[in-house]
Amino acid sequence: MGYLAFLERMGQVNDLLNAKSILNWDALTKMPPGGAETRAKQLATLSVMARDLLVADDTRSLLDKAEPEIAAKPADCVEAVICRQVREAIDYHLRIPAELVRKRAELGSIGHEIWAHARAASDFSAYMPHLTKTVALNREMAEYIGYEGHPYDALMFRFEPGETVATLKPLFAKLRDGMLPLLRAIAQKDAPRIDFLERHYPADQQLAFGLKMAEKLGYDLNRGRLDLTVHPFEVSFTRNDVRITTRIVEDWMPGSLFGTLHEAGHALYEQFSDPAYVRTPLATDLIGLYAVSGVSFGAHESQSRLFENQVGRSRQFWELNFGAARDAFPDQLADVDAEAFWRGVNRVKPGFIRVEADELTYDFHIMLRVDIEAALTDGSLAVKDLPEAWNAKIKEYLGLDVPDDRRGVLQDVHWSSGQIGTFCNYTIGNVMAGQLFEAANKDAGVASGMAQAEYAPLREWMTTHVHQHGRRFSRDELLVKASGRTLDPAPYITHLTSKYSEIYGV
Ligand code: ZN
Repeated sequence: MGYLAFLERMGQVNDLLNAKSILNWDALTKMPPGGAETRAKQLATLSVMARDLLVADDTRSLLDKAEPEIAAKPADCVEAVICRQVREAIDYHLRIPAELVRKRAELGSIGHEIWAHARAASDFSAYMPHLTKTVALNREMAEYIGYEGHPYDALMFRFEPGETVATLKPLFAKLRDGMLPLLRAIAQKDAPRIDFLERHYPADQQLAFGLKMAEKLGYDLNRGRLDLTVHPFEVSFTRNDVRITTRIVEDWMPGSLFGTLHEAGHALYEQFSDPAYVRTPLATDLIGLYAVSGVSFGAHESQSRLFENQVGRSRQFWELNFGAARDAFPDQLADVDAEAFWRGVNRVKPGFIRVEADELTYDFHIMLRVDIEAALTDGSLAVKDLPEAWNAKIKEYLGLDVPDDRRGVLQDVHWSSGQIGTFCNYTIGNVMAGQLFEAANKDAGVASGMAQAEYAPLREWMTTHVHQHGRRFSRDELLVKASGRTLDPAPYITHLTSKYSEIYGV
């Protein structure tokens, strides 16, 4: 009885966080601009209520009563895992003074406007005071959260628990060693043609085709929908309502298509989590206070990257699905075949902007941000020296001279929210996607399914090994069970090397 009462309380925390997500989805898709100010207050109220309910005295006494009830059960049973996770989350939140949380929320609420103005004017000095405060506050937060090696470890904990500066360093070194020679070699080669991707693709037809492909990969529209937004995202309000969004550019067809496949990959993680976990902590991020089944941001990103890149940008996928693309866009694709289409959507072109980066250059944008955030956090890089450090890294990795801060250090929205430590998940997601796709392909049913444009076996494999477990196992436990080892960049590097050697002859 005690455990059930405790579980119902956790269900209420989950309800509040789902309500917050719905308000946020609405704000980013349907809300008229006039609603922004009051909506921000509503979101903040729900956030505070969820946190307060989680750490409330009577919640803690419910947990105190639940723990002895399940003490006789195995330590790895669902009930024991839930109790441990909630205990850990309560401890985490109580370590951080409420005053500091309030200050960060305040910084976040004013940050977006300051950042947007500074970016529009390409004026880093206008953003410097806000960023200086953000760095100082996060540094202070790291001390309260606690860490063993590096203060940045404490900041990453909220997004990628267990990841540290010490573990990322060798991972990044292996990625650079594997990917830089490839990038250098490609720079010497002729680019595939992309003119047909820049023709006029009407918005409605792009939406319909993207959704058709997403459904083909397993996205369930009975529990999902697609809407337009400015910065595309996926969000779930339990596994029974998992929505995706996209942005249409009418003269750049791959943007929305692969964006939709990406968000659909995220959506599959949520839609196919175990129904028994609905409203439980195994479908709630109690550290980040967010209703989500994925176990870490990196694990989530592994699913989006896998369906977008490993599947969606593969030669096999377009050999089998190009016909559908030409049916949808007969005029635009009249003079193109599957081969040319596949080459075009895989073109490599180093650029300044992370969100526009291709598959090969994307991780360099991430590695530079993680290194810079870690250096800002430990004080080895001063905020005033940030543009110089940023531009030097872009030159080193991509060979480009950053023309202005708008296309450099001011491009990302992340810091304006008061958050530091969010970036590593993108690259971890790519690495995990490589491992999981390699492991899935060893299953004969998955491989023969994909060879016939049937993606249900692949989706089912991912559900068995990843989706269904929700937050039951840690990211590394999940990865070891599914692929036999912890983070290993080798399959990802092999995937990139074999694809680009085919396309570019390098
Ligand atoms: Zn994503």
